[in-house]
Amino acid sequence: MGPLMQAQATILVVDDSPENLQVISAVLKQDYKVKVAINGERALALASAAEPPDLILLDVMMPDMDGYEVCARLKQNPATAGIPVLFVSSRDDEEDEARGLSLGAIDYIVKPIRPSIVQARVRNHIELKRSRDLLERLTTQDHLTGISNRRRFDDRLHLEWQRAARAQTPMSLIAIDIDHFKAYNDHYGHPGGDQCLIQVAQALAACVTRPTDLVARCGGEEFACLLPSTDSCGASRLTEQMRAAVEALCLEHAQSPTHGHVTISLGVTTAIPQTDEPAQALVDMADAALYEAKSAGRNRFVARIR
Ligand SMILES: [Mg+2]
Repeated sequence: MGPLMQAQATILVVDDSPENLQVISAVLKQDYKVKVAINGERALALASAAEPPDLILLDVMMPDMDGYEVCARLKQNPATAGIPVLFVSSRDDEEDEARGLSLGAIDYIVKPIRPSIVQARVRNHIELKRSRDLLERLTTQDHLTGISNRRRFDDRLHLEWQRAARAQTPMSLIAIDIDHFKAYNDHYGHPGGDQCLIQVAQALAACVTRPTDLVARCGGEEFACLLPSTDSCGASRLTEQMRAAVEALCLEHAQSPTHGHVTISLGVTTAIPQTDEPAQALVDMADAALYEAKSAGRNRFVARIR
């Protein structure tokens, strides 16, 4: 979504007092979608739900789990760490404020709240969040296809590889090439080639359903898929699904020496990281398998298990 076509931002208001929830909601609901939580547990659940809030207004003083603990837990969870937190406190105390900010909160609002102050601060922080989100998208997304780019792939590969090394769990990687893509570009022109890349990217992305799986365009007609905590059996099943999904697009490829339509070759590999082994080892194995798949006639996958 472009910066001019923004959906309404969602604010999560957390307070143990129903009256406070009502007062703050009333101030914000004209400009934002407002969700409320009456305690810390509920706040954590709403923050990590499918549609996470863009900003959290968090009461400091609450029974059971206070605002500090809620904030600390939000910041510990990678899924919620990026959501800005504004503390709402009735105590105008510098030490409280410092503690909140040290836990990762971005700002402080003092109770009793003044509507204009709440509106202004929330508006500022929502704008900042949107700039950050946009920057994040621009730096991690492939411009043409909209799927992840090589940068995000490399980042995630190293992160997941380390995680797999610690847990000693298997990790799988699929290396993917569109067959005879240079001939496709030469025949159909670059706009045609771009359309082909977009359709293939969408078909590949539609095959993965787990949030931890990642499909990326790594350059030109090269794609890759990262599958954390996936054994060779599951990885091979998905690899064949991807091959079949691209074939099912039935994109004409008049210049293909092997098939009359667009196909892909895939190399899939699975490994449990050894001590101090670089993630590149997994990439090299997948590339070698991909090379075998091409040599064997393309439109197929080769699996290498270590
Ligand atoms: Mg309270």
